[in-house]
Amino acid sequence: MKKVLITGGAGFLGSHLCDRFISEGYHVIAMDNLITGDMKNIEHLLPLEHFEFYHHDVSKYIHIPGQLDYILHFASPASPIDYLKIPIPTLKVGSLGTHNCLGLALAKGARMLIASTSEVYGDPQVHPQNEDYWGNVNPVGPRGVYDEAKRFQEAMTMAYHTYHDVETRIVRIFNTYGPRMRLNDGRALPAFIGQALRGEDITVFGDGSQTRSFCYVDDLVEGIYRLLMSDYVYPVNIGNPDEISILEFAKEIIELTGTDQQIVFKDLPKDDPKQRKPDIGRAKEILNWEPKIGRTEGLKVTYEYFKSLPKEDLYKYAYPREFAKK
Ligand code: UDP
Repeated sequence: MKKVLITGGAGFLGSHLCDRFISEGYHVIAMDNLITGDMKNIEHLLPLEHFEFYHHDVSKYIHIPGQLDYILHFASPASPIDYLKIPIPTLKVGSLGTHNCLGLALAKGARMLIASTSEVYGDPQVHPQNEDYWGNVNPVGPRGVYDEAKRFQEAMTMAYHTYHDVETRIVRIFNTYGPRMRLNDGRALPAFIGQALRGEDITVFGDGSQTRSFCYVDDLVEGIYRLLMSDYVYPVNIGNPDEISILEFAKEIIELTGTDQQIVFKDLPKDDPKQRKPDIGRAKEILNWEPKIGRTEGLKVTYEYFKSLPKEDLYKYAYPREFAKK
């Protein structure tokens, strides 16, 4: 039986990957320090014989006994509000955490896939973004702690590949949504749905003309699985190229939830990218992958998930909006 380590395994993407690898017949070790991860995301897996959970911070030395075939490094805070709250752990998990995972991959002869991000393109001057674009990142801005850690992560990963012959894969993940997103992670989708469910105004930052392209989590997981099983070592964008302005997106959420709340406009956070859309030509060509689930379908499932949460969670995890203004 093949064994896979998934760091950030209790997080949004990590927990969906745990599900996928369990269903593919792997022995799965999920590792998480639970700063932004949540045991609720994996509690259904805990009774399984071939699922283990290690409560550990991957920025510190990682010990895994026995054989290991694959490592997926998904541990990291991943929303702008998290970068502001926990900038140094964000830098550490992308740099020291990646180094520890690569060292483990080398020691075990494991193949390693790292979760990179469209944030390596910063506020892009090329549209749509393809993998050959080097990006436009402000290293000392609020997003710099994430963007630069992820850029360092890619460089470190390539170095382990070229110098140590470690089998590596790099996925650049664009905005992704689905069940198990944190209500309080400050991202547009949980913010808007949370506001609708609490009967609060919908907060659009700036004039809402900035664009994003949202991918449903199952499509993302499929792309990651295919990339891991491929022999391609350079970065591959995985995302849904269906681009939408944030104002239009807010209106879609208002329609979906049937809320009678109004849109209110707030200051645009510093260095908020003006446009983002993946060029997925490489994923199509190399992985024969493209997204299958459109926003209407994906948003419906996601809304059902948020509605099913205990009512008190809506308030307990209410989005601390004061962070957005900084
Ligand atoms: N956004 C917004 N209102 C909110 C939260 C986010 O208008 O309450 C905007 C944010 O400024 C950005 C877009 O929605 O332009 C997507 O934000 P998110 O945090 O989801 O992702 P990222 O900026 O990292 O792509």
